[in-house]
Amino acid sequence: MERFSGHRVVGEIAIGIIHVLAEEPGKVSPVPVSDVEAEIARFDRTAKQAAGQLRRLSETSEQRVGVENARIFAVHAMMTEDVDYREEVIRTIRAGKVCAEYAVYMAGRHFSQMFADMEDSYFRARAQDVKDVTDRLLAVLTGRGTVEMPEESYILVAEDLTPGQLMQQKRNRLLGIVTSRGSAYSHTAILCKSMRIPTLTGIVPNPSWEGHRAILDGRLGVLLIDPDTETVRQYLKQMKETAERNEALPESGPAVTKEGRRVLLCANIGDREELACAIRNGAEGIGLLRTEMLFLDSQELPNEEEQFTFYKEIITAMGGRRVVIRTADIGGDKPADCLPEPPTDNPALGCRGIRLSLLHKDVLRTQLRAIFRAGAGENVAVLYPMITSEKEIREVKEIAESVREELKQEGIDAGNVEQGIMIETPAAAVLSDRMSTYADFFSIGSNDLAQYVLAADRKNSTLYEPGHEAVIRLIAMTVNHAHRAGIPVSVCGELAADHDGINALIAIGADELSVSPSLLPEVRRTIREYET
Ligand code: PEP
Ligand code: MG
Repeated sequence: MERFSGHRVVGEIAIGIIHVLAEEPGKVSPVPVSDVEAEIARFDRTAKQAAGQLRRLSETSEQRVGVENARIFAVHAMMTEDVDYREEVIRTIRAGKVCAEYAVYMAGRHFSQMFADMEDSYFRARAQDVKDVTDRLLAVLTGRGTVEMPEESYILVAEDLTPGQLMQQKRNRLLGIVTSRGSAYSHTAILCKSMRIPTLTGIVPNPSWEGHRAILDGRLGVLLIDPDTETVRQYLKQMKETAERNEALPESGPAVTKEGRRVLLCANIGDREELACAIRNGAEGIGLLRTEMLFLDSQELPNEEEQFTFYKEIITAMGGRRVVIRTADIGGDKPADCLPEPPTDNPALGCRGIRLSLLHKDVLRTQLRAIFRAGAGENVAVLYPMITSEKEIREVKEIAESVREELKQEGIDAGNVEQGIMIETPAAAVLSDRMSTYADFFSIGSNDLAQYVLAADRKNSTLYEPGHEAVIRLIAMTVNHAHRAGIPVSVCGELAADHDGINALIAIGADELSVSPSLLPEVRRTIREYET
């Protein structure tokens, strides 16, 4: 039995036969052509065909991964018809009198390199999109077709896997995924999470594994090749136990510990699908509405009415249960075209969250108008991300007050929306005694808090450790300060969905946990099993 360690993306287990996805042929050679116009026409037909494939893929994927996730294929379809890409291909065909395959290959290299060289991490990530689109065009041009799948169920092992390649797999045969490249934040990883496919990255595939039996342990982050019978037996037992436990997961009802302590269990959402899942799984409220999702995909800022409608829809669907609306947390690893952050060498430490909002006060005012209007007479709160100083929160609250006044002057009900501070920087945690005087509640963003406390990028799975003692101690201090001031504390980072994290947070005295909606039943069970 051989053992390989990788990075966890989706923490589930798979046992099955390995299928190694063959690397696509690398370099494409320039074959001379005599009829340049015919070659250009061939490229145009190819682009149309590839765009059609991608649009169909977008439609057929919607049911499996949801509208938001399936949108990537529609974006790729548009890219195959991109004017600049086409011009580059045509220029190469004409200049060298060469085949379309070579021109596409060169255009792909040119544009993906261009994106890869960009400072901005969002644009750098687009290099992979260009590569995906180029690979598809080459597959159509060469008649190579798409990924071949074995007949039996399999664990797919690949150098890298594009969203397109993933969606071509038959879901009922695909047991798990292991790739060498890719991070937990790639489009493919997001799709795997949404479909709960056990997934690891950081393991270099070996073609000799083809057909061998393997265990993919997404919880420990290991791949076992040719496991012995006893190991397989143990894993099968674990899988059975997990399946039984999952079946028995409580989908609703209050989360009360064995000793009778009530922990409010809420959901983090960013769109309507997550809202639906939160309701299905009995969320007691929305602990975090990530409003930046409205801004991320858009070239234009969402206006007040669009925001109002979206917030109102969520508030109404929650039927009186509390909805905490966070002002847009744009910047860092969440860049938005419609509200670019000032250039910086390190976006995580740059002008993100409330800093960017204070740079664009008009955008903040518009958002607050929409939140206050939607929240009038409802159980709604607003939450400010990435606060680091009293000066900042004072400035934000002054703006909020003036927006409220403005609405009143216009004869519009501005409601009585509570205001909370996200504690996700060490500064805010250390100053939490003072911060508590400005807030109706705290929400602890353990994802960012851990990254800033540990000086470890939250995307770096080797250094990043959200349950680190230093993080837990800071959270404990924050909870103490909050309770002394008489305000409640929610924890909305991933730590609130982690088994040990939940136990630590309950012990510390957190009043509320807010987690990804699909994890609500598991978290509910962990809370119910808690005892000191
Ligand atoms: C966090 O930082 O823990 C958090 C919940 O915010 P986000 O993950 O959106 O940065
Ligand atoms: Mg955060």
